[in-house]
Amino acid sequence: MKILDISMTIEPGMTVYKDKPEKQPLFERTRSIDSGVEEHKITLDSHVGTHIDAPAHMIKGGTDIDRLDLARFFGKCRVLNMITLHKISRMDLEVRNIQKGERILVKTKNSDDKKWNPEFVQFTKDAAQKEITLIGTDGLGIEMNNPNHEVHTTLLEKGIPVLEGLRLSDVNPGEYFLCAIPLKLKGIDGSPVRAILLPLEDAQFLFG
Ligand SMILES: [Zn+2]
Repeated sequence: MKILDISMTIEPGMTVYKDKPEKQPLFERTRSIDSGVEEHKITLDSHVGTHIDAPAHMIKGGTDIDRLDLARFFGKCRVLNMITLHKISRMDLEVRNIQKGERILVKTKNSDDKKWNPEFVQFTKDAAQKEITLIGTDGLGIEMNNPNHEVHTTLLEKGIPVLEGLRLSDVNPGEYFLCAIPLKLKGIDGSPVRAILLPLEDAQFLFG
């Protein structure tokens, strides 16, 4: 079975949103294998690497990451090829015939970025108005510096989580089975995830 890992590696010095030093992960060795046991304390921003934004990220009183329905992150999805686009609008989704309830992962040139790129491909507010189950992007955000974070809030107000920071360079557009389960962090606004795709034939073999 071929499992496609579409996650960023979490490590000190990795690419983080706006290159902010406070968003860098911190790994501290608390016990050494030389003493018999290796252990670390890991400090992570809730939006580091490949991660999910819960409604609580932008909506006061919005659902926290530990209370989201896991079915949003586990099931059939479609990877859309948008590598030639500089911005993603509702029309770009319309022409791809997005259906209500779909999980959509958008592959853009962001997947090839090796460092923070302030010119990353973002979504327009009208693109956020589709009634889907999950939206995924290979940018470290879905928008930047918009008034009132209008793309995030439009999605999150409808309870649609946003999966950001995907790595899709090696993924051919098409249908897959997605698994991108967040950590169960009580009362927190987001969580890093290990996101994987399974080709549908393999998923059907597993799940019938
Ligand atoms: Zn985020």
